[in-house]
Amino acid sequence: MYEMRIGPGNTATGMAWHVTPKAQQTALCGQHLLETDPALHPTTETHCPPCMESFQQAMQTGHAAA
Ligand SMILES: [Zn+2]
Repeated sequence: MYEMRIGPGNTATGMAWHVTPKAQQTALCGQHLLETDPALHPTTETHCPPCMESFQQAMQTGHAAA
């Protein structure tokens, strides 16, 4: 399983949604994400492009089925 976590991103807003494997703190793009409460951060509609790419590849290869 994967989950979305908000964290620093290379974006104009400074924050982005990353994809992390369940129970891990390193996003698919390599960004280390601390335990964060989304309520403490401004919301963003931005998704981390490298994470999205890796996630789509994982879906296509079936690794996300677990
Ligand atoms: Zn990311």
